[in-house]
Amino acid sequence: MNTPIKNIRKMLVTQALPYANAPLHLGHILEAVQTDIWTRFQNHNGNICHFFCADDTHGTPVMLKAKELGVDPEDLIDEVFKDHKSTYELYGIQFANFYSTHSNENKEYSEYIYKCAKENNLISKMNIDQLYDENEKMFLSDRFVSGTCPKCRAEHQNGDNCGVCGASYNVLDVIDPVSIISNTTPIKKKTEHIFFDLPQKSEMLKDFIKKVNLQESVKNKLSEWLNDDLKKWDISRDPPYFGFMIPDEVEKYFYVWVDAPIGYLASISNWAKKNNLDMNELWSQKSDYEIHHFIGKDIAYFHGLFWPALLSSANYKLPDSINVHGFLTINGEKMSKSRGTGILAKDFVSVINPETLRYYFAAKLNNKVEDIDLNFEDYVQRINSDIVGKYLNIASRSASFIKKNNNLLSKNINQDILDSLLNKKDEIVDLYDSKQYSKLIRIIMDLADDVNKFINDETPWKKDINEAIDISSTALNAFKILSIYLHPVIPNITKDAFEFLNLKKFTLNDVDVNLNKKINTYKPLLNRLEKIIIPEEEDMDNTNIINIDHFSAVDLRVARIVEACDVEEADKLLQLRLDIGELGTRNVFAGIKSAYKPEDLKDRLVVLVNNLEPRKMKFGISEGMVLASSNDNGIYLVSPDEGAEPGMKVR
Ligand SMILES: [Zn+2]
Repeated sequence: MNTPIKNIRKMLVTQALPYANAPLHLGHILEAVQTDIWTRFQNHNGNICHFFCADDTHGTPVMLKAKELGVDPEDLIDEVFKDHKSTYELYGIQFANFYSTHSNENKEYSEYIYKCAKENNLISKMNIDQLYDENEKMFLSDRFVSGTCPKCRAEHQNGDNCGVCGASYNVLDVIDPVSIISNTTPIKKKTEHIFFDLPQKSEMLKDFIKKVNLQESVKNKLSEWLNDDLKKWDISRDPPYFGFMIPDEVEKYFYVWVDAPIGYLASISNWAKKNNLDMNELWSQKSDYEIHHFIGKDIAYFHGLFWPALLSSANYKLPDSINVHGFLTINGEKMSKSRGTGILAKDFVSVINPETLRYYFAAKLNNKVEDIDLNFEDYVQRINSDIVGKYLNIASRSASFIKKNNNLLSKNINQDILDSLLNKKDEIVDLYDSKQYSKLIRIIMDLADDVNKFINDETPWKKDINEAIDISSTALNAFKILSIYLHPVIPNITKDAFEFLNLKKFTLNDVDVNLNKKINTYKPLLNRLEKIIIPEEEDMDNTNIINIDHFSAVDLRVARIVEACDVEEADKLLQLRLDIGELGTRNVFAGIKSAYKPEDLKDRLVVLVNNLEPRKMKFGISEGMVLASSNDNGIYLVSPDEGAEPGMKVR
């Protein structure tokens, strides 16, 4: 038989870049699994497909997180990089390259695309009003502002886009803005910003939307935005900021959303260099590689409009498809990175086999922009019923008969049964390619049902041994076909299956070749799942347990406030004169002015960190620190009970 020559497709695939200020949660894994299944399928089906990603490292949240932890942003993103990379590996996510936007390649590409945009008259400057947090002495990036959506009036929405109506807007249009950092009302302040002329790209974008492969609902949304008046895009940020400086400007940084998607190019370029490949062969107008992005629905505006506009201004090839997925809910509840309620992906593997999560997501994912619920009861039930009860059951119930034949299969098999499975190949290939995973899982499980029914009807356990071996050999050949179909979804379980079957070639092209070697003895490939119980959430921040010696090193003392007064030029500080008994007096600057009047503090007992390194400040030297706690409502000094004397040790 002549196999028709297959047109081999070449593809570059990306998922959205995870942000480098926190560990990955299960929502990240949903997107990674969706993308990984697709890229694995493409390679499994004889195409050439490379999957790229990087950490998105720049912007205010990383800067603030580093400040909060008392480390340099570079150190923070290094730690997070290792953490992200190893977590993706746990879930079998196979990147050609996982890189960082804080890289030389990314800096070069960002500067180059900016330079091209400038040469094409797409860059201009304007003095604009910005929201400024007077408490924190910084301009507020959009995500640190919350308020009411100017389009649909939904409250508590983000500074630049609305989670309810999906609108993207200028932060200055937000009604009743609040700084999330200090929980105060920001003021408007003038500053010069640099803009990318998105309106000039309007015709090009309309054309792009027509050509690119998009889900219908995404296409409609993008067209809607395009038909609204496009606005110039603010691509600069003022210090303090962690990012790349804009060339030929004084103290201006690229907005993180400029260099984040350019990180795709940087990651590919870094990989190309290591593999002696020419970037022009991979991603340029003349390249024969398709470009596919996988993203969440919250960033469709950036990927559907800003990103192609940036690419086109430097004459780069535009994406062939943008696939958008919905959000993940857990047991019906919204998960949120910013609220810290997401289950950490690296913790979840202590509860389940990560392959089973891949399977569960696949069983739920389709090609629509729909939210997906991870329901623990449903999860356990589905894994036990599908993978253990249907798929693996075929192998475990058949292997025992083959073992009696010295693990040799019979050639006398029922080809009709196998053909009925093989006939589904084209449909399964189409469903993989069009990302309709839930449908294909249903079809594969129906086939597994058919095979189990075949075994039940044939009752090998009642037959003589030779007949039982024939039946079981048919069943194991069917098991091989199902394993090949499932391979992109559960790569490791199926790899163990191929090992058991002693099968070396297992691409979709090999699916119709019957087993012809001695197989190995079967060992269970997955145990039934028990009830899922999530351990206490462990964040990166609170793993720093100290021992008693560390604690004893801190010299805490009872102190009496002898005098308290305002500090000129410092609107948050009070200057305190503290009496600590035999140890003398101390001068301390405390950031408690918003909560206390100086005259109310006199004679009050507080707790002092006595051996803190003295800190030189503009107004004098601070010799220690008084303990206080705080929440959104205010600051609360910690006081010893009555009877404590100045100078007493606190332990
Ligand atoms: Zn809205």
